[in-house]
Amino acid sequence: MDCDDFPFLMIEPSAVHKRRFSAQVLNDPADTRTVDEAGLRQRLQKMRVSSLEKLETSLQNVSCLFKKGGSPALIYAASAYDACNIIKRACGNTQSICINKSAVITRELKTCLAAAGLNIIESYYTDLHHKNEEFTHYWQLPRIPITSIFNAFEGEPLKSPGARDGMKKRRDIVGVIGVSAISADDGSVVLIQHRQNIKKIIEECRSVFLVAGIDKVVPTKEEALFQAKCMACFGMTALLMDSGAGSEESASMEDYPLEIPYDKSKCRLSLILMDNGRREIMQSDFLPLMTCIGCRACMNQCPGSRFFDTSSALSPRELLFLQLTEGNMALDLCLQCNVCRTVCPVNIDLPGMILKLRILQKKYHVLNYFRDFLLSKMEEIEKTGSYFAPVANLFSRNKAVKKLAELFTGISCRRDIPFFRAPTFEKIFKDQVSGHGK
Ligand code: SF4
Repeated sequence: MDCDDFPFLMIEPSAVHKRRFSAQVLNDPADTRTVDEAGLRQRLQKMRVSSLEKLETSLQNVSCLFKKGGSPALIYAASAYDACNIIKRACGNTQSICINKSAVITRELKTCLAAAGLNIIESYYTDLHHKNEEFTHYWQLPRIPITSIFNAFEGEPLKSPGARDGMKKRRDIVGVIGVSAISADDGSVVLIQHRQNIKKIIEECRSVFLVAGIDKVVPTKEEALFQAKCMACFGMTALLMDSGAGSEESASMEDYPLEIPYDKSKCRLSLILMDNGRREIMQSDFLPLMTCIGCRACMNQCPGSRFFDTSSALSPRELLFLQLTEGNMALDLCLQCNVCRTVCPVNIDLPGMILKLRILQKKYHVLNYFRDFLLSKMEEIEKTGSYFAPVANLFSRNKAVKKLAELFTGISCRRDIPFFRAPTFEKIFKDQVSGHGK
């Protein structure tokens, strides 16, 4: 396989009209092909389980496709540290790398790469940062119907990475890109890009490392595409929320002049398959975590995601993965609210696994069971409180009860919980509509 006929498949939300702002294409009224969301989730869950079962065979197939010493090169990295060393050695005079924003790069490699003294360019921020794309709250998002956006993501082959008009030189930068899925039958690499940021990295950087966790290897091209499409559409909210909030000042690729001759033989492309604790997780009780497709749908609705880490928001999936592999995460910040489980397209029981790990690590006080039980049953508690509204309100405002609640649940007695009301929201709404409400 040569660099120029490497089977890349690009997925981007604006695939149909390249320059349209991604949120607008989601509501494309011309697209009448709808998809059954429940069916999509079911198919994805089955596919992920069977891919993990066939993983060792798939990994062997991939090794056969990428011949030893050939180009592109296939490199196996046991840890993030190993992968960083490989990337650092490939960096030229500028010691600069351009990364995309996939989880494998930002959560597993970035700290290591920064510690190795490399200048990091986050093309995602510099390319996607526009005032009108800033969403700071969930309710600012456009309507995102998964049933109609599924078909907006198309896997388009990247036509000859070296074919950019007028490009005679490359920049002295190494590109490091996270991969969404790899097919074991023909080696196709599926990438999700936004505003062509990945295409630009591949075209302009002196050499490029495609990095994937071993769990991203799936048996067939069809499955690789399906997985990446699901990742893109279930993760659309996370993408839009990320597009503005938290933007950092970062160097731009344009700051580096074009100077490396654009010679086909110098286009170095490597695929790093990284274990970084994944096999160990697969052999443990936490195996379901490896069915994750990395869509980050669990992140935005998680009330704790902004507090799990001091530097940036973490999804509950990332929190658990980092705790299992690095062991320095604050698991007790998970409230056990179960929201992540509801939104996860693969139905991973993240709260259950977080709880299990807390217990295994013996960092779990018996009173915490009570607190977590209460917090995970909020809906039932609210329904009961509403049913017995006057009495429940008396209790909830009673100082002695509040002191006891603080002792057993950790909820401060200085806080007043909202009043319960007997009429349900549904009834109030119906009354308003029928004109009987005030
Ligand atoms: S755990 Fe989170 S990132 Fe993984 S598939 Fe489920 S929602 Fe997506």
